[in-house]
Amino acid sequence: MRHEKRTELEYVICNLCGNRNGNVIGEFRSRDLVDIDRSLTKRGKRPILNSNHTFQVFRCRSCGLAFINPRMSRAALKRFYEGFYEGLFVGKSVSYEQSVYAVLNHEQEKGRLKDVSRFTRAGKLLDIGAGPGHFLSVAKKHGWQIYGHEYSKKAATIAQQLLGQMLFTGKISQIPLPDNFLDVITMHSVLEHTSDPQEYVTTALKKLKPGGLLVVSVPNLRSLNYFLAKLFSLPYPGFLFEHLYYFSPKVISSLLKDFKILEMTSYHHSRPMLPQQSQHRISVNRNQSRFATFLLELSRTERKWLYIRNRVYAAQMRLLREILEYHKIGGRLKLGDVLYVFAKKPAEESQN
Ligand SMILES: [Zn+2]
Repeated sequence: MRHEKRTELEYVICNLCGNRNGNVIGEFRSRDLVDIDRSLTKRGKRPILNSNHTFQVFRCRSCGLAFINPRMSRAALKRFYEGFYEGLFVGKSVSYEQSVYAVLNHEQEKGRLKDVSRFTRAGKLLDIGAGPGHFLSVAKKHGWQIYGHEYSKKAATIAQQLLGQMLFTGKISQIPLPDNFLDVITMHSVLEHTSDPQEYVTTALKKLKPGGLLVVSVPNLRSLNYFLAKLFSLPYPGFLFEHLYYFSPKVISSLLKDFKILEMTSYHHSRPMLPQQSQHRISVNRNQSRFATFLLELSRTERKWLYIRNRVYAAQMRLLREILEYHKIGGRLKLGDVLYVFAKKPAEESQN
């Protein structure tokens, strides 16, 4: 076996302030990565990392942004994501759109669009990190003019089948859309995956019309789950090797300093865990690919039953969220796992 550990890792400085000094706030092992590694090796592809690598999470001493350092190199991440989408979609007999998984996602996407509609009417919308195009598909049905950007070419191809339109791939700053063009840009669970969150935010500022809306959701380290993990000295399950960055209300405010923040709330992950996965939650990705495989093995009745259970679960989560929002507790404390931010590009650019 070749030892590629070194070349597959890269050291970084703080993306927000350029500082090099940080405190280690967590460590975790890449067990899931090794698993994916094995499946890639089986298919004759280069492994991503050979060993049970330990990643460290740093928090920048000057601005508070938390990030993995050293982290997987861009090349390694690229192989990981292509492998992930390959595992999830390719060679399955049931189309993704018909699966229960897609139905669950659909609920979430509908909710997200509804949230956007609280701030603005249908117009031109760019979804960054569009994946297989589910959110865009919902937006399109509701009269939005849609554009999408996706890192994985594999996912973009799937999205094209669903939407009948190509997504942009490649470098975000080179997205071929005019400046001051879009009414809304959504980035759901994107910034933590990118090597350069600043680049995404800067591009969003350029491409939005003055007064345009930016919607961002990112992992929240100022969360109840994180505090509890620290309190009981447990490993924080929110640390994932593909989540390069971890935020807090303060950090996301600094990152979006050129925007006007209209609303910042938080929520807990609403995706239910499957019974056979309850032993240990290692990685969202691994769960997802297992989930997809698992669904294909179920009978129609079983799938329907699972679907109903998940709907009940989702309804409870929504109710909880409504109660929190109603009392403004969620808004004030922002203790959920995910920060959910609505920000506006200033209506008049002061340039000089
Ligand atoms: Zn910093």
